[in-house]
Amino acid sequence: SVYFSAQFHSSASDPYYCPESTAEVAFAGRSNAGKSSAINTITRNGKLARTSKTPGRTQLINHFSLDEGKFLVDLPGYGYAKVSKDRQKEWQSAMTRYLISRSSLRGLVLVMDIRHPLTDSDWTLIELQQQGQASLHIILTKADKISKNQASSSLMGVQQALSDAGVDATLQDFSALKKQGVGDAHKVLDSWLYE
Ligand code: GDP
Repeated sequence: SVYFSAQFHSSASDPYYCPESTAEVAFAGRSNAGKSSAINTITRNGKLARTSKTPGRTQLINHFSLDEGKFLVDLPGYGYAKVSKDRQKEWQSAMTRYLISRSSLRGLVLVMDIRHPLTDSDWTLIELQQQGQASLHIILTKADKISKNQASSSLMGVQQALSDAGVDATLQDFSALKKQGVGDAHKVLDSWLYE
């Protein structure tokens, strides 16, 4: 799979400094939701995205190259209480510009903890995505932490909340620990980047 050969390309402090790209898919999520672990599992590279013990620390946009000028993008985590108001404003400004103006952005993967989906800050991000052109896919991760029944009711709850809000999205459950849902994620990335 092309995703297994993803390589770190560059970090940018602002969308302005992002590399030229033909097509890319970005990953976003609250700090500690499991975004880095999901990226590392999807790329089968334990070290590609840094799993951080100090959430909210890295505010960089990281590009990982695939082939033909295509990229996976790790967006800065959000929703961490100890981040200053100024920092939050910077994040919102950068994400607004990235999600609305990045013409090569095909899709956004929103990673949420399956036990705590759709927080206020997740909705903030979804509202930005809705203003841009990119499609939305939702990964509900850490599915290994709950039963199959709880997982399917979380999936249905999120699906319902999104359709109530008029948001068009695909969604799946996932576990970095159990390597569950990797094939489903690859299919979505393929459809956005290679079709
Ligand atoms: P990020 O801040 O969103 O990048 O989150 P991380 O990927 O660093 O994960 C936050 C914490 O959740 C870490 O302690 C991970 O080991 C743990 N974690 C992430 N994904 C999973 C998962 O699928 N299952 C379990 N049990 N733990 C996970």
